Amino acid sequence: MRPSFWDHAVAAVMSLLLPLAPFAAALLARDPAYLRDYGGSLRRAIRHVQGQKRARLMSRTLAARVRGWPPRDEIEGGCTHCGACCLHHSCIFLKMDDGGRSSCRIYGSGFFRKLACAEYPRTAADIALYACPSFTARSPERTPGRVPVAIPVVVEQD
Ligand code: SF4
Repeated sequence: MRPSFWDHAVAAVMSLLLPLAPFAAALLARDPAYLRDYGGSLRRAIRHVQGQKRARLMSRTLAARVRGWPPRDEIEGGCTHCGACCLHHSCIFLKMDDGGRSSCRIYGSGFFRKLACAEYPRTAADIALYACPSFTARSPERTPGRVPVAIPVVVEQD
């Protein structure tokens, strides 16, 4: 699925604000390293905006929060910290350690809890979008007496 009007609009606004991104990241992560390497942070911010658009983050978040669509699935599993769901490894707050294990620089903060990341994954489509290797989704038991059905996960290609 292609990015919607909202994905393009938010990306355009964020692109205009890019020079401020290292300051915002430093503030939100409480890490002055974003400012010490201003050029590197700017490049990461550009990748972040591109990753956000590629993941259709705004349109998916609006659909989930305004229309409750798609409905939440039953999710099983536990994160193994590959970093794929961090905007396909492009989130400015993503940190990978020497062992290739991801962590989030703002995890648990008030700002983080408002993001779609805090709910990931809520559906089978979320899992498919980032090809998450660790979670599986089952459709909720909407009809009394019906056994939940496992949803096959299809990985989208660009
Ligand atoms: S894609 Fe799945 S396993 Fe990888 S970091 Fe995200 S939740 Fe964890």
